[in-house]
Parts: sequence; structure tokens; C-alpha cells
Amino acid sequence: MQLGQRQVLADSDQPWDLIVIGGGITGAGVLLEAARRGQRALLLEQTDFAWGTSSRSSKMVHGGLRYIAQGDVRLTRHSLLERERLLQELPGLVERATYLFPLHKGQFPGRWPMKAVLWLYDFLAGIRDHRYLNRQRLFERVPGLRREGITGAMSYTDALTDDCRLVMRTLLEAARHGGQAINYARVDAVSGEHGQFSVSVRDRVSGESRQLAARTVINATGAWADRLSGSDKRVRPLRGSHLFINPERLPVSDCLTVMHPQDGRPVFVFPWEGVTCVGTTDLDHPQDMDIEAAASAGEVDYLLTLINSQFPQAHIRRDDIYSTIAGVRPVIASGKGVDPSKERRDHAVWGDNGVVTVSGGKLTTFRLIALDALLAAGLINDREHRRSQKSDQPGFTPLQAPAAVEAFLHADQADPAFIDWIVSRESVVHLDDLMLRRTRLGLIHPRAGMDVLERLKPALCQQLGWDDRRWEQELSRYLDIHQRYYGVPAADDNREQAA
Ligand SMILES: Cc1cc2nc3c(=O)[nH]c(=O)nc-3n(C[C@H](O)[C@H](O)[C@H](O)COP(=O)(O)OP(=O)(O)OC[C@H]3O[C@@H](n4cnc5c(N)ncnc54)[C@H](O)[C@@H]3O)c2cc1C
Repeated sequence: MQLGQRQVLADSDQPWDLIVIGGGITGAGVLLEAARRGQRALLLEQTDFAWGTSSRSSKMVHGGLRYIAQGDVRLTRHSLLERERLLQELPGLVERATYLFPLHKGQFPGRWPMKAVLWLYDFLAGIRDHRYLNRQRLFERVPGLRREGITGAMSYTDALTDDCRLVMRTLLEAARHGGQAINYARVDAVSGEHGQFSVSVRDRVSGESRQLAARTVINATGAWADRLSGSDKRVRPLRGSHLFINPERLPVSDCLTVMHPQDGRPVFVFPWEGVTCVGTTDLDHPQDMDIEAAASAGEVDYLLTLINSQFPQAHIRRDDIYSTIAGVRPVIASGKGVDPSKERRDHAVWGDNGVVTVSGGKLTTFRLIALDALLAAGLINDREHRRSQKSDQPGFTPLQAPAAVEAFLHADQADPAFIDWIVSRESVVHLDDLMLRRTRLGLIHPRAGMDVLERLKPALCQQLGWDDRRWEQELSRYLDIHQRYYGVPAADDNREQAA
């Protein structure tokens, strides 16, 4: 099962049954579901696989308590069933985690309303996994948490993943069924009509352009979707940022929901791949979508304010942050100009006869989103759609791979066997593909993972066929990207305004 070394974009005499534009989780899911049904399908990603929002989420495979609180039982139920499916099929990559929701004296929701919501949440998932923790139990588990006003906590479970690895795992599974995927291949335009599309693609490695023929085109470009949809603007880009913090300075062992003291928004503090992750923010993102999203100084301050109000003894400062990450959520706009956090999070599929566009939604429900896109594109019918939604056929086959690949969340990401496997199978083009997405070494270590890189250099150069000159170029490119988009902006940095 492999994508192999990156392929050069080639002319093809035969039209593709399907071209999928966008290599995030939505595009990967569409490719997999089409390839599994025998379609000759090709996915094109303008940068690297999972470079967009799908490497920048909160990493939760979840039903989403907020959706149930908003009365969206259907979305919650679908998400929970998909969560349970992924937990079963991808152990080590999607793992159950304990979530704690502290309760405050005199504040909504109290113990009993929360218990009722969690009962329903578990019931919809077909599990029973929630309980009440009294103050003492809570503070044993989260020793540094501010104690004032807290009466106890509700404990329940959801799941965590590595979003990038989930995209790669989905692409690898698609490749097993004959699907093809090419990164650094940007679609500039789509012309024609259903049955006879012509797709203009630029190979960003060779610099060459190609016209590819396809019977069907699905635009799965997330927050970029309006550019190729051929219809009116629908996406409201909302940015969410996270901080990755030195775990010795802010140790947590469960996923904690805490309310921001300024605006009462819930923010997660959770353990992820050995570091402590804090997020997210939720802001309109009017910046140019060709510029990689980055956390602003204001967002870092906002999240630091939260941490230091909830963990008053920790005194977390910018120096304690290893890296930041910002993602742009493709929310389908209500057009009502409401507060960003109040916009609905479900997906939409639109376009008829022409290009089918799919955007919005969640990481968790990628399989269902893909089925909706295939239905709209006429690649499956209503019956097949209904049958597949409920199907209990496994979506993933076990990989023949080093343990670190399957059990990624606990892996030593610098393990040479693991790196070797990735480099030979996962279409790595640049050092940043490896440091920021195939692995998260550049996010979960101080100094952009430079110490690890020094150790990896000889093996990497050999595996990728890079000489010293190429290594220096790649290193300088990677460090520049890290500093601009994944670093910690100084308090007086105004890059948000500059962008
Ligand atoms: C801060 C944040 C937290 C989130 N947390 C969660 C969570 O915890 N759980 C959850 O389930 N969901 C979460 N989500 C939602 C989830 O991350 C997104 O719904 C999902 O990643 C969107 O995937 P996508 O494939 O549609 O878009 P993307 O991942 O953005 O993929 C679109 C791709 O299209 C490519 N592209 C664009 N234009 C072109 C072109 N012209 N040619 C070729 N390629 C192109 C882009 O480069 C990009 O890689 C979160 C989102 C955000 C922003």
C-alpha cells in the first residue's frame, strides 16, 4: 500500500472517471470511496497532502458536545457513529481519550443538566462512559487547575487523532484500491461540463502545465472552495489557532474544557503527542488564502490569558510555547453576519451538472461527506448511498508497516524505520512535508525540532537522494516556513495586519 515517490504529472490518453481537487481529509475520503467502487480516480493537491485545514484541527474525532447543546442531534449521532467506527478500525491512530468538563458553582450547566446531555451523547454512540468527579478527584487529576468556584467535573470520553496521519492513512487505503494522488499539483481552472471536463493543472515541482480530461470533477478544496465552484460565494473562512506547549511546564493527562475569562468561550487544553495543546480561537479570516494561515500575536495572548487564569501557578510565557498552528475552517456561511462561534459546522454539497463542490463539515465525518459528494456527482445512486452510510464493512485494511506507523499516537516519530517507511511510500517532496505533516517533529520539539534533524540528516539525505546543497536549501526553506507560520509571534508582531 503506497503512494510511492511523488509522481510527475503526466498526460493521459484516457479520461479519468473522477478528478478530485484538494488533498485534505475530504478529498482523501472522496478518493477512497470512489476508488473502492472501481472508479479510475486521481486526486490533485496544490501544496502538500493535508497542508490545508486537515493538519490544523483540534485533532478530535468526536460527536461534539456543542452540537448536541445546539440541538443538532442528527450531526452528533452521525459523528459519534463514525467516531466508534474509526476507533475500531484505526487503533493507535484514533484513540479514546478522557475529557473533563469542570462545573462551577451557580453556573450553567450544572451537574444534572450535564449528566442528561452526556447520557444522550453516550446513548447515541452506543456506549456508557461518563461519570461525575467530585472536587477532590478532579484536583487529583488536574493538580494545577484554578480551584475557585469549582464544584466538581463531569468526565466522559471522545477520541483524539493525528489529523495529518488520518489523511495519509486514507490516501494509502485509496492507493490500495488503485486511486492515485499527486501533491504539488495545483488546479488553475476547470472547463467543460459533466462527462467532458478539462482540468488545467500546474505541476509545482517541474513547473509544467497539463490539461487532464475527466468525466467527473469534485472540488474538495475546503476554505478555497469558492475559487473553483463556479457559483456564488458560500464559504465563510474562520481561523482557529492552537499552541503546542512544553509539557513539563503545563502537564495534563486528560482533555480539559475551560472557559475563557474574557468571553466565556470554551477552549480545550489536552495532551497530544507528548506536548500540551491549547486551542482554539475562532475569528474571521479575511487574509489572502494564498498565504499560509498563521496564529497572530493577539491569538497567542488570548490563549496565554486563558492558560494563566486557569492554571495560576504555571506562569506560562511565550518561551514555553514550542510552536503554533492556525487553520481556516470552511464554514458554510449563514449570511446572517452572526458571531463566528455560532455558525453551523456541517458540510454542504452544491453545483449541478457541472463541478460538484463539497466543503465544510468535520474531520470525523469524512466518510459520510465523501458519500454525499459521490451521490451529488452521480457516481453512486440513492440506494448505494443509504446502504453505504449504514454499512458495517471495514473501511481500512491493516497496514504491513513498522509498529510506529499503525500506533502513531505513541510512536517515536524519529524512529529510523518509521522515517524510512514514510519517505519510500508517502510522496515526500520537501523537508517541511516531513517535519510538519508526515511527522510532527517540527511542532512537538523545541527549536523547530533542530536537534532531531541533526540526527536524521545523514539517513534522510540518503533516502531522499539529496546532496549537501539540496539539504541546505531544504533546511532554509523549512526554517523560514516554521518561523513565519508555525512560530510564536512576539507580542508586538503585527503580522496579522500585514497579511
Ligand atoms: C481550528 C480548527 C479546529 C478543528 N477541529 C476539529 C476537530 O477537532 N474535529 C473535527 O472533526 N473537525 C475539526 N475541524 C474541522 C476539520 O478540520 C475540517 O472540516 C477539515 O479538515 C476540512 O478538510 P477539507 O479536506 O475539506 O479541507 P482542507 O484540509 O483545507 O483541504 C483542502 C485542500 O485543497 C487544497 N487546494 C485548494 N485549492 C486547490 C487547487 N486549486 N488545486 C489543488 N488543491 C487545492 C488545499 O491546499 C488544501 O490542502 C477543525 C477546523 C479548524 C479550523
